[in-house]
Amino acid sequence: MQERTEPWDITAQLDELRTQGLWRELRPLDELDGITVRAEGREWINFSSNDYLGLAHSAEMRQALTEGIAKYGGGSGASRLVCGTHRAHAELEEALADFKGTAAALTFSSGFAVALGTIPALMGAGDTIILDKLCHASLVDAARLSGATIRVFPHNHLEKLERLLQTAKGRMLVVTESIFSMDGDAAPLREIAALKAKYGAWLLVDEAHAVGVLGPQGRGLTAELGVNQQVDLHLGTLSKAFGLSGGYLAASRQVIDLLINRARSFIYSTAPPIHLAHALGIILDLIRSDRGDTLRAQVRNHALQTQNLLSGIGIASHANEAAILPVILGEESRAMEISSRLRETGFLIPCIRYPTVARGSARLRITVSALHSAAQIHALGTTLQEALRP
Ligand SMILES: *Cc1c(COP(=O)(O)O)cnc(C)c1O
Repeated sequence: MQERTEPWDITAQLDELRTQGLWRELRPLDELDGITVRAEGREWINFSSNDYLGLAHSAEMRQALTEGIAKYGGGSGASRLVCGTHRAHAELEEALADFKGTAAALTFSSGFAVALGTIPALMGAGDTIILDKLCHASLVDAARLSGATIRVFPHNHLEKLERLLQTAKGRMLVVTESIFSMDGDAAPLREIAALKAKYGAWLLVDEAHAVGVLGPQGRGLTAELGVNQQVDLHLGTLSKAFGLSGGYLAASRQVIDLLINRARSFIYSTAPPIHLAHALGIILDLIRSDRGDTLRAQVRNHALQTQNLLSGIGIASHANEAAILPVILGEESRAMEISSRLRETGFLIPCIRYPTVARGSARLRITVSALHSAAQIHALGTTLQEALRP
């Protein structure tokens, strides 16, 4: 097709992204089986997936989906409020509420959609939303969409959070993640919960990177720290450790009823295919089982092993049990160069840049899975040491 000339400044914007080292492009893979990735006639070891428990390509997943498709076929045909709610959706939501220790839960087509639907349904003009500086884009966008006043505190900074709570107007919602997506560190949830109680605020915790991975039965960091009951809104995704797709909000029955009536990304979107809800129910059982415990122990071991390797080559990382280990390199172009050097040597590790993280804090984001082998992690350490050499 003939290339058309775009109006406005699209060409200039694209050129600017290239010169700033911020250009991004899609690279289709041919095959992906959990750890090994094939494309362009080559093979890589994948250290970039959020499929922490290695369930996405498991035999259990394939069976659960096949069974669901045989029973329910494809799309659900309409939004949940029209004729798109199947018993499988309701059962999954009951199971998720039980898992998170809340009275009710609601599923959405993605974690992003949960935030976009939930926050504007509960907060509006005259209210105040207080976010950690490193909160995910979906939380930031949802806060903006709500029309509430937005306040941001420096990452995990409790004193600043308290000062914002002292001066906030209207209803107050504190928003944080339990494990931060690009840093892998944890929020001080006990202290945040104490502050929100002191000032009568509500608390939303996004457990995208903790659910399935941390806590008893994989119930997340809130369960591990025993603050489940102090969290008003539990947000999570079904696309990371759950290995499939979708998201959920777990809360009181009244909050969920309000979301069913007010959350626009829920109301005006077709219900996820029934077979997904069916498979997610089976995967949730697996995550809560002894097998889930074994997979969580493997992730933990691999994270520790990687952390030791990194500190052996002079890269400090947070002491945490999560599966995300960033190597912060600073300058965008240097991080890109090292990421592509690793790619040449057979490791798929993404370079994370602005606007996902602050300018000048570009990094490699290593994620480990239950499926990696000790040998693969060891090889990563050696290769990384080579690649980081000036
Ligand atoms: C991935 C992610 C989401 C979005 O979840 P999806 O199901 O991928 O849309 C939300 N919050 C955080 C912190 C995430 O990392």
